[in-house]
Amino acid sequence: MEELAIVVPVYNEQEMIELFVREVNKKTENLEIKKIFYFVNDGSSDQTLPLLKKLARQNDNINYISFSRNFGKEAALLAGLQATKESLITVMDVDLQDPPELLVPMYHKLKEGYDAVGARRISRKGEALIVSLFSNLFYKIINKVSTTPIVEGARDFRLMTRQVVDSILELRESNRFSKGLFSWVGYEVIYLEYENHERSAGQTSWSFRQLLSYSIDGIINFSETPLNIATFVGFISFLASVLLSIFYLLKTLIFGDPVQGFPTLIVLILLLGGLQLLSLGIIGKYIAKIFLETKRRPNYIIKESNIKELD
Ligand code: UDP
Ligand code: MG
Repeated sequence: MEELAIVVPVYNEQEMIELFVREVNKKTENLEIKKIFYFVNDGSSDQTLPLLKKLARQNDNINYISFSRNFGKEAALLAGLQATKESLITVMDVDLQDPPELLVPMYHKLKEGYDAVGARRISRKGEALIVSLFSNLFYKIINKVSTTPIVEGARDFRLMTRQVVDSILELRESNRFSKGLFSWVGYEVIYLEYENHERSAGQTSWSFRQLLSYSIDGIINFSETPLNIATFVGFISFLASVLLSIFYLLKTLIFGDPVQGFPTLIVLILLLGGLQLLSLGIIGKYIAKIFLETKRRPNYIIKESNIKELD
């Protein structure tokens, strides 16, 4: 029988795990497929790990990998994907916001010949207005400035073949933005649409600030446009100041120099100073990324796992 690896990052999700496994099993019971769960405990401080251990003892299709601390969802996804050996792989959130019943049509699509089938939320029901507004803005901006298209509303939830996952794992960068990486590797991908589901239990662990910084990371990692903007704006203002100085020189030569132009001076200093700081900030962002990449730190540290090769 064909095997499906289900990679699930979990962070303080004690209420959700059993419910998740039950729902996935129920909603996919008609699929002729053997499911193998890979839970990645991302440094939870609640009963998540003991619960995972118990489940792994009771079910031989449940695996867990446990980090030494919280490394973030991207790191957890990576660790999970690296642990899989199955020919089909899916990544899902544990909170049932990625509807497990979608796995059935996803599977059929894959059998039609696609390499990966993604899921796309077409409504954002039950989500804070400000989050929706900013996330719309994020998709607009990133698709303008990056050559790697990011489908609006696309989730990390997707079903992939071994080949696609191996390609993703070949991308060795440590600043990981999965939605971008998935898109970057290419292949035949189709997106299934669904309505947003609210979280079944527990709480979202993302604050608005984290979401914002995640979005900025996404843009910085997949686009050089911010750097180009800084260069362009810098060039224009340099040009403007050269022209202005010629203008003032001529004006002084022709009309003399009554002590004027003080406001202009202040405005110019502020303008140029501001532009320089802006450009430095943008450049600094990229340098920080380079700094992190050159340190070649591992994305995560595994403290324990029931998978022998990993423990
Ligand atoms: N998650 C994680 N590490 C973190 C934060 C979240 O592994 O630092 C997991 C979490 O347990 C869940 C998934 O990532 O399975 C999505 O998290 P959440 O539902 O909080 O995010 P949202 O759906 O609000 O984007
Ligand atoms: Mg969620």
